[in-house]
Amino acid sequence: MSEPLVERMREFGTTVFATMTKLAVETGSINLGQGFPDTDGPERMLERAVEAIRSGANQYPPGPGVPELRQAVSEHRKEWYGLAYDADGEVLVTVGATEAITATVLALCEPGDEVIVFEPYYDSYSAAIALAGAVRKPVTLRVDDGRFTFDPAELAAAVGPRSRAILVNSPHNPTGTVFTRAELEAIAALCRERDLIAITDEVYEHLTFDDVEHIPLATLPGMRERTVMISSAGKTLSVTGWKTGWICAPPSLVRAVQTVKQFLTFTSGAPWQLAVAYGLREEMGWVAAQRAALEAKRDRLMAGLEAAGFDVLRPAGTYFVQTDIRPLGFSDGLDLCLRLPELAGVVAIPTQVFYDHPARGSHFVRFAFCKKDDVIDDAVTRLHRLSGLGGKIT
Ligand SMILES: *Cc1c(COP(=O)(O)O)cnc(C)c1O
Repeated sequence: MSEPLVERMREFGTTVFATMTKLAVETGSINLGQGFPDTDGPERMLERAVEAIRSGANQYPPGPGVPELRQAVSEHRKEWYGLAYDADGEVLVTVGATEAITATVLALCEPGDEVIVFEPYYDSYSAAIALAGAVRKPVTLRVDDGRFTFDPAELAAAVGPRSRAILVNSPHNPTGTVFTRAELEAIAALCRERDLIAITDEVYEHLTFDDVEHIPLATLPGMRERTVMISSAGKTLSVTGWKTGWICAPPSLVRAVQTVKQFLTFTSGAPWQLAVAYGLREEMGWVAAQRAALEAKRDRLMAGLEAAGFDVLRPAGTYFVQTDIRPLGFSDGLDLCLRLPELAGVVAIPTQVFYDHPARGSHFVRFAFCKKDDVIDDAVTRLHRLSGLGGKIT
């Protein structure tokens, strides 16, 4: 049979995470590739999910999500950001942030519409845009003063007559950048002037370091009315396997997204929704402690990678640290990551796979630090084997 996959999805193949995780398992390597924590979320919240199952929350919940979770999300937005979203009509529960992003792009973009994304970008963005038949317009984040940022003129130049939306991920995976108010204001000004919808992926909203503040784009003047704000319990509450996310937006945007969402999945797991409602209400103290622990893990991995010879960029948020591999004598991150299991017994992610212009990211490799301290230490010890190899093994 000829290739059965539709043409617009052919560039996607197997995700790099599947490839690298398989490699980690096959070679017994330490996996600092995929970004999932190796510890569970708050114990009492896990108990709530068990109780929900035992007490009969096992049939379809309402399409927009269980009222308890929509109410908890609404209160959380108000308390943390001063944003008022009505639990009835302005909050929609989704199957993680992933479905929220895909349903939003499918609901709002006509074939041929352009969506601006910052590269390197989270891998599901390009697939969601392709599914919609829309066109991605990448704007490259470049390292300036130790962090990845964009050139506002380049961003403005990416907007054209077919531009429909901009996807904004802050704190940003895979670079660890948290956009400043000035950067967000540049994005907001463009959205207002050129009538763009902002789709914000804020899954790392509570995972920022060094007292860096996460500022939702929707809090900037004129932005609430044109922003679809997306979050998830996965990263905030360390339950990535629960796949429970949500969007907050004005009623017309929520209705549009729900129209698509209802035919993708209709609704999502009732027990998780009830437990996450509890988590958002009662476990933000746990989240604060988790944030502090992650910051220490970031520092631990950064110090280890520096000692092993990498140039390390300091992330202000997320689970990830970017390294420049050139000081070790390597130049191609994909090549290095494919050989890293054999060379050092560690798996990492080549940053170039998140670009439309891979050459711009070829010397970066991403490591995840959302792992137990002894796992991080073990990985770092192994990575010391790399120093001195670079020039000799090509
Ligand atoms: C993990 C992640 C997601 C996916 O979130 P789910 O709730 O698991 O679907 C989306 N965006 C970014 C940037 C992520 O890192």
